[in-house]
Amino acid sequence: MTAIHFGSQSIIPGKLVCVGRNYVAHIEELGNEMPDDIVLFNKPASALTNELRAFAGEALHYEAELSFLIRTGRIVAVALGLDLTKRDLQSRLKQKGLPWERAKAFDGAALLSDFVAIDDATGLSFEFRCDGELLQQGSLELMIHQPATVIAALEGFMALQDNDVLMTGTPAGVGALKAGALYSGTVYQHGRCLLTKEWRCR
Ligand code: ZN
Repeated sequence: MTAIHFGSQSIIPGKLVCVGRNYVAHIEELGNEMPDDIVLFNKPASALTNELRAFAGEALHYEAELSFLIRTGRIVAVALGLDLTKRDLQSRLKQKGLPWERAKAFDGAALLSDFVAIDDATGLSFEFRCDGELLQQGSLELMIHQPATVIAALEGFMALQDNDVLMTGTPAGVGALKAGALYSGTVYQHGRCLLTKEWRCR
């Protein structure tokens, strides 16, 4: 199993709870309907990887996302996460009304930077780049559903346990990964850099 890292701790999360369609411009770029309710899906801990790969049976697409470590039902730390997606397969599954696991929960479908402790989940934003070129920019301000709203909505439906991870959806600018390229992400809080991470795509 691949662990996530928070300070000196290596942690195997129970699950990764993911929000879909949480940024208006991303809903529009994929031609999706605006959902009535929060779109949720899970990735198992077995989806975690340390390596960014451009291909796994088909081309993989990146979705960069603010990701939170949950303890005692609260956000305690933030990371930049990549929700790796088999987009062609997901499109076929969506057309047939089938579950997304084959496109979203496969081995190697989730990559997370180290987690950094935060006192409160406010003023957070991120950038995601390929060879220095800006691909995606996201922030709490642009989200349809705030993390606290998602956590509240999960209560009484799907318990968040200590060391679960919440991935909050991706903004516009998703696309296919390029083998050999250097991807980098930065998370800011109130404009101050909290963390940076680089991944060389294989
Ligand atoms: Zn996503």
